[in-house]
Amino acid sequence: MKKSIFNYTLDKLGLFLEENGFKKYSAKQIFNWLYVKNVLDFEQMTNLSKDLKVFLSNNFIINHLNMLVSEESHDGTIKLLFMLDDKRTIETVLMSQKYGQSVCVTTQVGCKMACKFCASGLIKTERNLEIHEMVLQILTINNILREKYKDDPDNPRSRVSHIVVMGIGEPFDNFDNVWDFVNIVNNDHSFNIGARHITISTCGVVPKIIEFANLNSQVNLAISLHAPNNEIRNKLMPINKAYPIEKLFEAVKYYINKTNRRITFEYILIEDINDSEENARELAKLIKGINGYVNLIPYNEVEENPFKRSTKISQFFSVLRKLNVNAILRKEFGNDINAACGQLRAKREGIIKNEI
Ligand code: SAH
Repeated sequence: MKKSIFNYTLDKLGLFLEENGFKKYSAKQIFNWLYVKNVLDFEQMTNLSKDLKVFLSNNFIINHLNMLVSEESHDGTIKLLFMLDDKRTIETVLMSQKYGQSVCVTTQVGCKMACKFCASGLIKTERNLEIHEMVLQILTINNILREKYKDDPDNPRSRVSHIVVMGIGEPFDNFDNVWDFVNIVNNDHSFNIGARHITISTCGVVPKIIEFANLNSQVNLAISLHAPNNEIRNKLMPINKAYPIEKLFEAVKYYINKTNRRITFEYILIEDINDSEENARELAKLIKGINGYVNLIPYNEVEENPFKRSTKISQFFSVLRKLNVNAILRKEFGNDINAACGQLRAKREGIIKNEI
């Protein structure tokens, strides 16, 4: 079966071409057509030889994602629902930030990490996304932005400038594909999205944090911490039983030593679960001396579970500040279209039945 061309990093494509008697550098030309010029047809890639064009069409497809729904929020957030070839659906969100256009990328259909507060675990089917299924999330949004800014093509907002790998799924449970995806979108012959503009978020898969640290890249790491101690974290996040806080923090310290990069701790505030002043003090103690900052996230309530948004967010925040912890309150996006952090999941059955 023909493979999607969007599965290939520049190196892998170059190697494949070389193995088949073509010039390696043609991979750069192909990348340029696909990702810079947005020419999605081998025939129209005019600087490639006829032989190469035939070889490419015999070996690859230039596929796209089927968009089922696109919703725009009053704050400019766009949520897209895509249907994959096997009829499964995924969501992608574009957030218009002050600093640029940021996309929240989905890495798996469903998620098996089963965090108690999260809606993604409610999706029963699970599988890893292929590389092309992640690359195409960015390509599709770039096309939407290009169209939106067609009268102002030099506007930096006319393309995706930042990526947060925080959609549905656990990226470190699909590490190899996620890494190739990052490689493709970061490449300067492609979208050229800077590594420092890309953040991968994990619930704490310790061996992968070590592996990631060893790659020594500039890509940012965020840890979904959500609790200041094992007792609370065990209740919220099953992963904590495999990799408790001590192990997680060994990995965090290893990452910081190795890469010299600052880490983000995500902490959703849930009423009467992890939001007391005592919890804030414990959190401050836990991350003391670590080159990181805390991103406080108001919990988005999910119908199917009992957790409530904390009413003590500002108290929690000021305790952290008093204890000299670097902390910020995350701005929420797309609340009115269910695109807010952690709410990514289709009310799918309904949508699909209605739309197809
Ligand atoms: N699996 C990865 C990335 C996907 S989740 C991870 O755990 O980091 C992205 C972020 O959204 C995580 O911090 C997750 O804990 C958080 N989240 C999940 N459900 C949420 C909800 N209902 N409200 C707010 N944040 C939520």
